[in-house]
Amino acid sequence: MGEPIRVFIVEDERRIARFLQMELEHEGFRTATEANGRKAFERIMQEEYDLVLLDLMLPDMDGMEICRRVREVSSIPIIMLTARGEIESKVGGLDLGADDYMTKPFDVQELLARIRAALRKHAPQEAVPEGEKLVVKNLVLYPGRYEVQVGGQNVELTKKEYALLEYLMRNKRMVLNRDQILQTVWGYDYVGDTNVVDVYIRYLRSKIDDRFHEKFIHTVRGVGYVIKE
Ligand code: CA
Repeated sequence: MGEPIRVFIVEDERRIARFLQMELEHEGFRTATEANGRKAFERIMQEEYDLVLLDLMLPDMDGMEICRRVREVSSIPIIMLTARGEIESKVGGLDLGADDYMTKPFDVQELLARIRAALRKHAPQEAVPEGEKLVVKNLVLYPGRYEVQVGGQNVELTKKEYALLEYLMRNKRMVLNRDQILQTVWGYDYVGDTNVVDVYIRYLRSKIDDRFHEKFIHTVRGVGYVIKE
């Protein structure tokens, strides 16, 4: 096997987080932990993980909200951890795009099995099933594979450029304002100028529109940006 698989453990009960960390590292995974919901969301957006274990009840932002926001831009496998008796939450979690859920206290072997199953489900496949690609004219983005092509030619993007493009493409024909883009791509607590959106739009345009002499990303004056046919 190549690089270790990185699992992000989002859990505010230190005892459980420690336990998961020990068990997973023992199995050869690389782990990181976070106890704060809002910070966890930002770290999922900014850092690179292969799978997220997501507790439901967290300070600042709950697991469902994190899941919903992450799903706007990413198909990273998410397994929700819920306390016993939170059946409705489980259903809600899956509705929001979690891959699976486990009820605490859980059996470690079962959790490991579910982690492997979720990773297998997300493993890059040779033939990408229809619907797993986002298309605007001859621009194609393969979610979860970090691959973007224009007319069959690969385009190299940074992680942020990719996240921005994926967000635009998932909402194609919808005009997105700078605040929406900032909150989704950079995270809720991003402190800085909304100029960063314009800067990254410029990067994307030079790598996609300009390079391939096509107009994908349109500016809607005074509102924001839209990607469309
Ligand atoms: Ca909790």
